[in-house]
Amino acid sequence: MSGSQRKVYVTHKIPEAGLSILRKEGCELDIGSERPSFSKEELIVALRKKPYDAVICLLTDVIDAEVFDAAPRAKIFANYAVGFNNIDVEEAKKRGITITNTPGALTEAVAEHTVALMLAISRRVVESDRFMRDGSFTGWGPELFLGEELQGKTLGILGAGRIGGRVAEIVSRGFGMKVIYYDVKQSSELEHPKAGGPGASFRATPEEVLKEADIVSLHVPLLPSTTHLINKERLALMKRGAYLINTSRGAVIDESALVDALKRGTIRGAALDVFEHEPSLASGLRELQNVVLTAHIASATALARNSMATLAAENIVAFFKGEKPQNIVSP
Ligand code: NAD
Repeated sequence: MSGSQRKVYVTHKIPEAGLSILRKEGCELDIGSERPSFSKEELIVALRKKPYDAVICLLTDVIDAEVFDAAPRAKIFANYAVGFNNIDVEEAKKRGITITNTPGALTEAVAEHTVALMLAISRRVVESDRFMRDGSFTGWGPELFLGEELQGKTLGILGAGRIGGRVAEIVSRGFGMKVIYYDVKQSSELEHPKAGGPGASFRATPEEVLKEADIVSLHVPLLPSTTHLINKERLALMKRGAYLINTSRGAVIDESALVDALKRGTIRGAALDVFEHEPSLASGLRELQNVVLTAHIASATALARNSMATLAAENIVAFFKGEKPQNIVSP
């Protein structure tokens, strides 16, 4: 590869595991903002400084026609994420620009975080932590912070792809939960797992899942068809004692409708890693006791982040060598 001439713009510092692959190939790297909120305008200014051949971007970077215009030589944008709703993939396709993502590298991390959120909300871990820290604990109590066990409960998954499927596996084997799911594609692998285990049962509509599940976990990509998949009407279908878990994308839930449902007791609680207008929270969400909030960290393990960086870099290296990158996404 004539890597010595290749210039790669990395919008934010990512783990060295990926950067070193590009350096070894002789690429010249420029690393952008250390801040998470790098605006599109700042990105455009940065990209105009040099004739970049490739860009590594994050899920927080809006990548659209104006950004492509600012980097006319860059024919590959490697997203450091599995979700790619931040990129206008349709526009990229029209311009012959390759977009890649990092599927699989973070499946385990996100699935485990999802289970952590299920346990945290059902066993009131964060609420009880706050209680301890503010000095309210005066001693063991027979009914202090009663929660729910996962054993024997029904988990409803909306979007049973890589992450949803792994969550199904963990909770059915680990907690003996019954798993039901809705997906636009039915999965025989999920229903009849090779490694044994009970398997998940398909439901023909999201509504059926919402009515039947004790915990609902969201794992769909953010698309026009999944935006506000969970809205006021669908929240009203859930059991009063149910919990909602979201590690997919914030806008899959109408967050104001969720705040309202949590206040009214339409559902018992929610645990969220992603938010509709990140980094802002819907009015009233912060004050609620029956929610657990994490800072979009579901993939934040050293292993997952290193693997994501490696994949993003390998996609660019393959592209520069004239090969087909392994993780091309299409509209
Ligand atoms: P995937 O493509 O393997 O699975 C997504 C599933 O959703 C697929 O099975 C697909 O058929 C299904 N789906 C698509 N549209 C649907 C619809 N309208 N209704 C029902 N199902 C639908 O993706 P994955 O690797 O499992 O990741 C899922 C999502 O998780 C990503 O798109 C990303 O947005 C999110 N994610 C979040 C974090 C985080 O840090 N919180 C990390 C990784 C991924």
